[in-house]
Amino acid sequence: MPTIRSNNVVFNLITRRPVFILISVSLSLSKLSFTTSPIKNMSFVEKVRLLDYWKIQDSALQTEFPRSHLVLMVDRRLLVTKDAPEVSMVEHSYGELKQLLGEYGLQFDLSNSCLLDALPADNDMIPLFGTSIEAADPPEDSPISKKDVLKQLGNSLGGRFTDIRMAMLTMREERQRNLLAKFQSLTKWAATYRRCPKCAAALKMRSSKSGAECVTCQRVYYPTFSPVSITLITDPTNEHALLVRHRGSAGGVFTAVAGFAHTGESMAECARREIAEEVGIEVDSIRSLDMSQPWPMPDSSLMVAHVAVANMDQKISVCPDELETAQWFSRHQVRQAMETTLADPFLKKLPLTLDDRQTLHYIPPAGAIAHQMIRKWVDGKIDCHNSRM
Ligand SMILES: [Zn+2]
Repeated sequence: MPTIRSNNVVFNLITRRPVFILISVSLSLSKLSFTTSPIKNMSFVEKVRLLDYWKIQDSALQTEFPRSHLVLMVDRRLLVTKDAPEVSMVEHSYGELKQLLGEYGLQFDLSNSCLLDALPADNDMIPLFGTSIEAADPPEDSPISKKDVLKQLGNSLGGRFTDIRMAMLTMREERQRNLLAKFQSLTKWAATYRRCPKCAAALKMRSSKSGAECVTCQRVYYPTFSPVSITLITDPTNEHALLVRHRGSAGGVFTAVAGFAHTGESMAECARREIAEEVGIEVDSIRSLDMSQPWPMPDSSLMVAHVAVANMDQKISVCPDELETAQWFSRHQVRQAMETTLADPFLKKLPLTLDDRQTLHYIPPAGAIAHQMIRKWVDGKIDCHNSRM
């Protein structure tokens, strides 16, 4: 196979496709001994370098597009598995999706698609795209509604359409949630980021949607997201947790305190300030939980988890613009809410009376980082005594 090396990527001269060497000849035996699975590690390196190449090489991505697999949003609703115990995205090959959507008069191309991942296929890698299309409304005198058409379309595609928030909250697999966060975030960014903030000229968007270059001053811009701290507050005995109910959120659902980082703040400083702002108390110590989650709504953010310790004798005063209430709960009370949530993952039995809405019945569903933090604490896997300020 004739090859040429360029910028750490080896190209096949006939196909012009990049070829990646599994183990570099310069890799010493001593380096290999540091890992128990060098092949696995190298294939990850191979994958991220291929993704990096596809991100910036529009012509290469255009060539790959007909070989790709795709996940789909129609009218900002995601195609997910139907009647399966575990909700996940439905994936189609390019040809299959082209044909099935074509039967409904719907089309897609690279302009409404973004690069999500690289998938193994027959000793090769193919791109995984997310494609987002808008369906036209049926004529006013149509006997069939758009909702019915989309239901039928979902059936034809082997799934059903659901809103993005519900998909994020109920998909159990972290990889799927993170791919969806990327899909929604890149789609929204590409649709809104159209002009150069410096010189106001048009931006040329990459086919991957991983960046955009100003046609005049050549500045390159990358998808934006905001860091958010999310903090579980416990008392010094680690037997009680302070949970909050957001204004306008579903009745009976309590969660951890969260808020956007300000410019010039560390994540711990952000967590401490947000707790003071939202519930009016000071924490004695705070530490990172080494957990994070990309979250795409309403805009793209990265939630970073913390645990903080505060004395229960402090007076709670909630920020009324954001919260309805904040209360201390025992581990037993939180465990009951966690079990109710796991038994009713789509929160279909939410309480309706005003009093019930202000009482702890649920925590966020399993897909949310808040759920995972609270669950860890309920199971005694968070030791607040290692915290420090
Ligand atoms: Zn510019």
